[in-house]
Amino acid sequence: MDSEGKTTITTILGKKTTLQHNDFKNILEIITKHGEANESNSNNIADILQDPRFLNVTTQMINDQNWISELNPDNVRVLTSFNKMSKLMVTTNTVPISEPSQMNTSSFGNNKMRKSITQFMTMDETEPKTWFKIEPVITCFTIIVKIKEIKNKRGLTSAAQIQTEIEKLLIENDNPQIKVRKVIPSYECCKIKCETANHRKNLLELIKKERPTWQCETQLIRPPQIKLIGVKYFNPEKNLEQQFIRYLEKKNQWPLDKENNKIIAYNQTNQAHDLIIQILPSIRERIEKNKGWVNVGHGDVRAIDYFNIKLCRKCANFGHAIRDCKNMTRCGYCTKRHNETCRNQQNSNEWVCPNCRRKGHNAFQVICPVFIERLKVEIEKINFPYESIMH
Ligand SMILES: [Zn+2]
Ligand SMILES: [Zn+2]
Ligand SMILES: [Zn+2]
Repeated sequence: MDSEGKTTITTILGKKTTLQHNDFKNILEIITKHGEANESNSNNIADILQDPRFLNVTTQMINDQNWISELNPDNVRVLTSFNKMSKLMVTTNTVPISEPSQMNTSSFGNNKMRKSITQFMTMDETEPKTWFKIEPVITCFTIIVKIKEIKNKRGLTSAAQIQTEIEKLLIENDNPQIKVRKVIPSYECCKIKCETANHRKNLLELIKKERPTWQCETQLIRPPQIKLIGVKYFNPEKNLEQQFIRYLEKKNQWPLDKENNKIIAYNQTNQAHDLIIQILPSIRERIEKNKGWVNVGHGDVRAIDYFNIKLCRKCANFGHAIRDCKNMTRCGYCTKRHNETCRNQQNSNEWVCPNCRRKGHNAFQVICPVFIERLKVEIEKINFPYESIMH
């Protein structure tokens, strides 16, 4: 604490104990405010950036996968830029600023420093730290089969019996134009995964002819969806008829497509909206190349991939939101059944994930293998070969 009772970066860096997540949070809060012209609320920025302890702690922050995966992408971008700037200043005492590319910073005041940080952030072209890689998932053309007459028997679920019936039918047929990758039992039904849309069509015809009482549903393959974060001046009433997406198409020179490019949903955050939009696969590819930025008129905003995966904040189970929860409370950080905020919420060493039972991460993190499996099931239904997930 300084004389005004505020936490400053210097006081945090001067602490004798090892820095904790709470300190990380305070540091981030201060550096994200540096864009605002308020001379009094911090130490000299150049001094802080030149402090090896600052370089050290911001490197720690970036490498703490648990901590960083919970941040919003814009804050990660600010943090990464400060860290890179600090690295340059500690080692060379220069920062890249306009042309010629490097300039001595020893005489910089706070305002000049802020300007160069802003410039540095725009020059920073690396992929956001929050993105993660995923093994390729093959898009599957799925049929969901239910057979009414089949009920659960002792020791044999209806799904397992349906699976046997489907496999028998597949063995009987010798049509090379009906190839099935997998038959997967699910809740009171089975999913048949076909190689192509055509194979699926042929199989549907075969079932109709040979097993007319089976109930079949096809799973639609849909285009990718993204969430645009912090779109200002979006007027839901005016834009229900999709004018805004036409504006985005023009602004970003995306291929125009009234059928596939559309606004799916939006929700209001403070002073802005987050928009979930569906886009052509080629547009998704372009956004990834553009490091996840989309121009919305008032500037670039961050786009992240959107999947409809619900994870309950009360019981940490997948498939429903907290308002539909009928389960007992189960803590996403320690797996125990308690109602109050987890006392280990800030302490990742103590985390035990209730979904995979592993230590070191919590239920809400994308590093959880159970989440990744869930994600793959979603990706199978999407017409895009994801390699990186913009998160
Ligand atoms: Zn729940
Ligand atoms: Zn807990
Ligand atoms: Zn887990």
